[in-house]
Amino acid sequence: MTVFGSEHIKSRKEHVCCFCGETIEKGTYYVKWSGIDDSFFHCCAHEDCDKLVSGNYLECDDEFSTDDIIECILDDCRDHNISYEGKSIHELVKELIKSKNGKEKN
Ligand SMILES: [Zn+2]
Repeated sequence: MTVFGSEHIKSRKEHVCCFCGETIEKGTYYVKWSGIDDSFFHCCAHEDCDKLVSGNYLECDDEFSTDDIIECILDDCRDHNISYEGKSIHELVKELIKSKNGKEKN
């Protein structure tokens, strides 16, 4: 898989985050990147989701597909005692980043 860099841009319309599957609201910043896998692709993601995945916050193996990411997020929430009842995946992503940042400082 070849990735042609990513950029942070302000959305002019709604997009779907390719990590958590939730809506990226119009007018918010998100990360967009493109590349070649079997064919040309492009992805959009919340800045938080991109940070979690590309910043090595997730504690699962390096090789995972976007389908596995939600599983990884839920696993990490269990490890960090973050309750995920009634929360969206995107909310859990933000809580995980917060909890992991806190851990590094201590
Ligand atoms: Zn997301």
